Amino acid sequence: MTTPLALVLNAGSSSLKFALYDIAAAPVERARGIVERIGGAPRLKAAFRADLPSVARDLASEAVHDHAGALGAVLFLIEASFPDARIVTVGHRVVHGGTTYAAPIVVTPEVLAELTRLIPFAPIHQPHNVSGIEAAQAAFPDALQVACFDTAFHRTQPWVNDTYALPPDYYARGVRRYGFHGLSYEYVSGELARIAPERAAGRVVIAHLGNGASMCAVEGGRSISSTMGFTPLDGLPMGTRCGQIDPGVIFYMLAEEERPIDDVQTLLYTESGLLGLSGLSNDMRTLEASGTAEADAAIAYYTARIREQVGRLAATLGGLDALVFTAGIGENSPRIRAEVCERLGWIGIELDPERNAASAEVITTSASPVEVRVVPTDEEIVIVRAAKSLWEAGDAACRPFPPDRRLSDTKV
Ligand code: AMP
Repeated sequence: MTTPLALVLNAGSSSLKFALYDIAAAPVERARGIVERIGGAPRLKAAFRADLPSVARDLASEAVHDHAGALGAVLFLIEASFPDARIVTVGHRVVHGGTTYAAPIVVTPEVLAELTRLIPFAPIHQPHNVSGIEAAQAAFPDALQVACFDTAFHRTQPWVNDTYALPPDYYARGVRRYGFHGLSYEYVSGELARIAPERAAGRVVIAHLGNGASMCAVEGGRSISSTMGFTPLDGLPMGTRCGQIDPGVIFYMLAEEERPIDDVQTLLYTESGLLGLSGLSNDMRTLEASGTAEADAAIAYYTARIREQVGRLAATLGGLDALVFTAGIGENSPRIRAEVCERLGWIGIELDPERNAASAEVITTSASPVEVRVVPTDEEIVIVRAAKSLWEAGDAACRPFPPDRRLSDTKV
């Protein structure tokens, strides 16, 4: 008897994150890992839930120069570790679903064409998501490919919060504030509904603070506004992205400095944010540890923008019942949470320093009118649940790897 498995893929510019689940019943995670430095000196890291040793190994750069090569390395590992298992569905994290996709969807040739058409909407992310899907289709022609969108959760936003003040034709053509990190917001608001249902039913701001960062106003479990806009460049400053910027700065760079448009794009996406301000690193742990004036200034800019957005989003919600921190920085940095909350007493936030230092579930005092929580996010489980349910709704046959596609001989 074979075990049906679901593979979850998150394809980035030089990385392929994966998670593997047994989906015979409720999804059970079996492994998770990453192939990083694709196209450079690739390396595979994976951890297993069962009593299998963790893996960290360098890969041959000739074999792993693209997502297909990276997926080959992942499959080699999976086949070796779970010889009786069969991957029946692959769930993909896709950054942009445009105005069309408000829910996960089975990837057909038409869907893939639409995702490709959306590349200009998220030029730094979407091409890699599409190539991840193509690599998985080639590796598993019989598995159900499912796309899950970072924009989908925000499709509930009212017009006044998802439009720009442009002639209306632009809105009709899809130039809107989409919002991203929706898979994380879906998971966190679901968790909040489970652990604190009364707060979740009210007015909630979620701060997803990872290498990418955004915030979302959630009312009764539905997104009503977010800090990101047309692309994942807007809103908060991030590891390497500038976040909110006056478009006039971009005109100035193009017209006065005569910088090529690609250069400006590279600057705003990959050389700005915490990295640009500090001149040191995009990584918050490194900045916190460094203690240089530049690192501290970058952190001060970062926390000031987050605090500002708490106020803006609370105004949109007409008040605040809970603030939730999530993702790498939100879950793990007492300093960032404390700096953000430092001047938010007026809104009803009274942080408990000890609870904050311990990254407890609730980090406010018992008397604090607004509850501040730390909720670890899990975007992969949202994807696997969607893939499993679409797979079960369709042909539930547990198909084997096609014999000619076994990758055990692949040298990686
Ligand atoms: P993510 O994209 O969610 O994996 O988050 C990555 C970010 O989280 C990086 O900037 C890390 O430095 C940051 N991070 C992870 N752990 C910590 C920690 N203990 N303190 C501060 N930042 C952290």
